[in-house]
Amino acid sequence: MANLTVTRTYVGSIQNQRQVHDGLDSLGDSASKLWNVARWTVARVWGEIGIIPDESALKSYMKNQACWKDLNAQSSQKVIEELSDAFQSWFDLRQKDDKANPPGYRKHGDERPRSTVTFKADGFKHDPENNRVRLSKGSNLKEHFSDFLLCEYQTRSNVDLSEVNSIQNVRAVWNGDEWELHFVCKISLEVDESAGNGVAGIDLGITNIVTVAFPEEYVLYPGNSLKQDKHYFTRAEYNTEGENGPSEQSMWARRKLADRETHFYHVLSETIISECVERSVGTLAVSWPENVRESDWGKTGNKKLHTWAFDRLYQYLAYKGEEHGVEVLKENEWNTSKTCSACGDDTKSNRKHRGLYVCQSCGLVGNADCNGAENMRQKITSSPHGEDRSNGCVAQPSTYLFDRESGTFHTREQVVS
Ligand SMILES: [Zn+2]
Repeated sequence: MANLTVTRTYVGSIQNQRQVHDGLDSLGDSASKLWNVARWTVARVWGEIGIIPDESALKSYMKNQACWKDLNAQSSQKVIEELSDAFQSWFDLRQKDDKANPPGYRKHGDERPRSTVTFKADGFKHDPENNRVRLSKGSNLKEHFSDFLLCEYQTRSNVDLSEVNSIQNVRAVWNGDEWELHFVCKISLEVDESAGNGVAGIDLGITNIVTVAFPEEYVLYPGNSLKQDKHYFTRAEYNTEGENGPSEQSMWARRKLADRETHFYHVLSETIISECVERSVGTLAVSWPENVRESDWGKTGNKKLHTWAFDRLYQYLAYKGEEHGVEVLKENEWNTSKTCSACGDDTKSNRKHRGLYVCQSCGLVGNADCNGAENMRQKITSSPHGEDRSNGCVAQPSTYLFDRESGTFHTREQVVS
């Protein structure tokens, strides 16, 4: 056991949404406006002297603009930092791809989107006893009402924010339906020693949310229960949609679905990490579908939604892995679905048929997701092409199904009996 200080983000839903909604809308709009003015300023300086101003130059210029005071000073600074980071990412990306686009304006037609607003040390006041947080407004807006928004929140899981050592900052985030609060906290953790020398690979997918190649076995975790939930609650939402937008009932259905998804991802990542510990797996490589072509997403291809789900799953795995001595690595997925895990052949004629990977070179026929997961595993193991496996067969994986009644994963055998 060792002690480790880590950063965690806890999500709080806002209980008095109606009271603070307009105020947060106005701050979110101000953040977008500030971004746009700063972005325009960058373009103008660039056009005149061919240099993109750095963060501190941009900050000191923007401080004198009227829109700077629409937010708390630290919140405004954060917007400029985000813009500078976006330009930095673009410079980095341009090394590899000269067609990469620079950061754009925050605009949807004539409208501005609701940007995330960050409140640092002097921008918020937390009252953990009463589950309240005061968020500071900009000095321009102070005359109108009060100089802060008082949000009542509830954390989703059983997180007690009064036990957290320190809250670094609070972020107001528009989730597409309503505003929510993200509390970025520093906490100290008791962490386990490394779980062992074993390595495992993970393939993230759509039908099988997760496929794990453990050293001795392949395990599939299908998204069956997620799909059923989505079907049920989307229908509930549709049936109760009122004439004047979403009814209370449809809002309930939407929130209920989100909660169940969160629960599913938590349990899934917990199950995988404890499997790793049991099997002495201290390193886990997770596929990152960065380079998947648009066409590969197929009919179910809501790329944005899946990327978001994968990102969350990766985050949960990394958190839980950190606590239990499993290092979780994010590896690029490039070619892992096309390459044969048995012989390394990656000719184009090796294709997937109905979930099977067929290799023309060595004759391997096996589950395509397992083949992908095995390729991930081989990226971080010292013996290529599965030579360290006692069982090289990717055809017969075990399936762990989510049991909705108990809220845990079982092997298929256990579910049937
Ligand atoms: Zn092969």
